[in-house]
Amino acid sequence: MADDPAARNPHPALEGRVIEVDIVSKRFGQAEVLRDIGFAVGAGEVVALLGPSGIGKSTLLRIVAGIDTDFQGSVRRPDRLGMVFQEPLLLPWRTVAENLTLTHPDLGGDGTHAALARVGIADKGAAFPAQLSLGQQRRVALSRAIAGKPQALILDEPFASLDADMGAEMLALTARLIAETRIPTVFVTHSEAEARILGTRILRLSGRPATITGEEAA
Ligand code: ADP
Ligand code: MG
Repeated sequence: MADDPAARNPHPALEGRVIEVDIVSKRFGQAEVLRDIGFAVGAGEVVALLGPSGIGKSTLLRIVAGIDTDFQGSVRRPDRLGMVFQEPLLLPWRTVAENLTLTHPDLGGDGTHAALARVGIADKGAAFPAQLSLGQQRRVALSRAIAGKPQALILDEPFASLDADMGAEMLALTARLIAETRIPTVFVTHSEAEARILGTRILRLSGRPATITGEEAA
């Protein structure tokens, strides 16, 4: 049985872990916002963190992404992460194409065009962010996040504050891109429906400080 992989590795499931989160505590001053939050994101998984507004979802994602290092605990993450913030965060004085090439200088003209085409806005490269709808700005942010071929994707309420049609379209686009690229993803939302559509697994956050109070397959 020497070439049975399971015989060589007694814990094959552990190999597929792309992100491992073990947060003991996160405080802002006296206020403890997160406590005992542990989960892993495996290859091919889309983990939805579901919880109400103000519970600590963005705080948690900033820790997972390595932007906030002021917490008790540990996080393992790959080197190349793609992140979409709750706001699209585009530089208003740069064109859409420049917003991509500033983060990904090696994309070039063709690469930038292809990256925008992938999110359905190939014709918007020369536009400025203020000339785009919020939905289009979110497409740029998503395009920028995946253009660097990240090893994991982190999305903070990427469909929030879009109207119902636009939100559904953006959700379908994101689901398609994740399916095509197979990038392991963790995203937060306050919407049960979004969590079910996009997620392969749902973790529920509740309480103050927030903890994971439920886990289920989506
Ligand atoms: P969510 O993304 O789930 O809406 P947040 O992570 O943005 O929640 O915020 C969780 C809690 O932490 C809120 O009570 C918020 O006021 C507080 N908080 C967030 N960022 C800071 C900060 N930089 N300083 C102090 N409190 C903060
Ligand atoms: Mg938030």
